[in-house]
Amino acid sequence: MTNTASPLDSGRVADPSKLIQGRTGPWEIVMGLEVHAQVASNTKLFSGAKVGFGAGPNEQVSLVDAAMPGMLPVLNKYCVEQAVKTGLGLKAEINRFSRFDRKNYFYPDLPQGYQISQLFHPIVGEGEVLVERDDGSSFTVRIERLHLEQDAGKSIHDLDPNATYVDLNRAGTALMEIVSKPDLRSSDEAVAYFKKLRTILVYLGTCDGDMEKGNMRADCNVSVRRPGEKFGTRCEIKNVNSFRFMQQAIEFEARRQIEILEDGGTIEQETRLFDAVKVETRSMRSKEEAHDYRYFPDPDLLPVELEEAWIESIRQHLVELPDDKKARFISQYGLSAYDAQVLISEQARADYYEAAAKGRDAKLVANWVTNELLARLAKDGHEIVDSPLPPAHIAGLVELIETNVISSKIAKTVFEHMWEGKGIMTPAEIVEQHGLKQVTDTGAIEKAVDEIIAANPDKAAEVALKPQALGWFVGQVMKATGGKANPAAVNELLKAKLGV
Ligand code: ADP
Ligand code: MG
Repeated sequence: MTNTASPLDSGRVADPSKLIQGRTGPWEIVMGLEVHAQVASNTKLFSGAKVGFGAGPNEQVSLVDAAMPGMLPVLNKYCVEQAVKTGLGLKAEINRFSRFDRKNYFYPDLPQGYQISQLFHPIVGEGEVLVERDDGSSFTVRIERLHLEQDAGKSIHDLDPNATYVDLNRAGTALMEIVSKPDLRSSDEAVAYFKKLRTILVYLGTCDGDMEKGNMRADCNVSVRRPGEKFGTRCEIKNVNSFRFMQQAIEFEARRQIEILEDGGTIEQETRLFDAVKVETRSMRSKEEAHDYRYFPDPDLLPVELEEAWIESIRQHLVELPDDKKARFISQYGLSAYDAQVLISEQARADYYEAAAKGRDAKLVANWVTNELLARLAKDGHEIVDSPLPPAHIAGLVELIETNVISSKIAKTVFEHMWEGKGIMTPAEIVEQHGLKQVTDTGAIEKAVDEIIAANPDKAAEVALKPQALGWFVGQVMKATGGKANPAAVNELLKAKLGV
């Protein structure tokens, strides 16, 4: 029996392989994420104080951020533009009218006594994100809303056993909260969505996406249900700040809920925290303890009214988005969807690739970048920005292959030298220095061919009956020439001499 009564339910059901087997049968995870992304901006949402990582405590705090009496917030237009840009990148509705509200609560790192957010009228409405799975298939996640809000400061509990310090550098920094509909059906999907969101924001330049600096963190709303049945009660796991933690937190939480349900219990809606050391989620507060934030429109700020022409001009200057770049890489360079996906997943990879592919065999360049360079970098936990080899060297290597100066096989040796030499010598210089040039001089190849045929009369006779045996001779000639003979020339000569 299927019951998809909730208008929130997209009706999509998890891939059977992603269902969780309980004692009493299979379960499906249902999730929606609330992602907080720090707006890439030099200054704060309502003050001119600098935003930056690594400053000393309380060095980047204006009187507004410290909530001194009588201070008034002034909206940072650039942050609004960043939010609109993000909304356009999420194919979302941009609300011409939005407004800021006060979310009231007390905490030492929140000197105002309230956070300025947008509950009733967010700046961005419904949108959607196309998400690719590892196997190449994709699904759509609907976006519910995006709103702007200010971040709080930081309470530091571990500097002194008897005191808590407050650092207000982060207070007032602009955040975008991006809320998805409950369209995610496995921990893999949640991670893939979070990654895609990060890629889009980094492309747009609206968030640096540096997870280690806390640029992006997600509240994961998790519930479980029998496949396709009504939604269950959700629990919210706060502040998950890495892809791995997200996977672990969701897996743990889903199993915890399944165990309770299978024992005949019910899930209490609550907020939980993920403990990365114990790899478990723990209750933080239940629904009964939930705050009443007493939201009301902030009287210090006017509503935000956007002109269509301004939104349009932002749309006109939007960068090429990841999905569009992927489609272009497939059509312009003839790449497979898989290679295109690998190359566009980081803006820097795509730029590197395009610089290397210019005027060269684009598919060959893609192979060298994805199979060799990225693989090598990944071994040391590096990305393309750390590459010791500039794009011109990959292009140079491919040019040597294209112009038959080296064979693909020798190219691997050349790449080894390039990698070891950290880009000091060009591929052409390496080929020169190590004498790796392909032998196309038929005289030299012919000599090797003649010698090997003479030394192996039985095998030569065999080839006349079994042309496949030719391969053995090709191998011998290549070996005799140190792999440098042009394979096409070797084949041709052998065929002529052996009469096949
Ligand atoms: P709140 O603001 O109280 O957290 P929302 O209605 O804004 O509540 O929902 C927050 C998130 O929870 C959204 O991302 C939404 O997709 C997700 N969500 C809603 N219902 C469920 C459910 N039954 N299971 C999992 N996630 C859900
Ligand atoms: Mg929530």
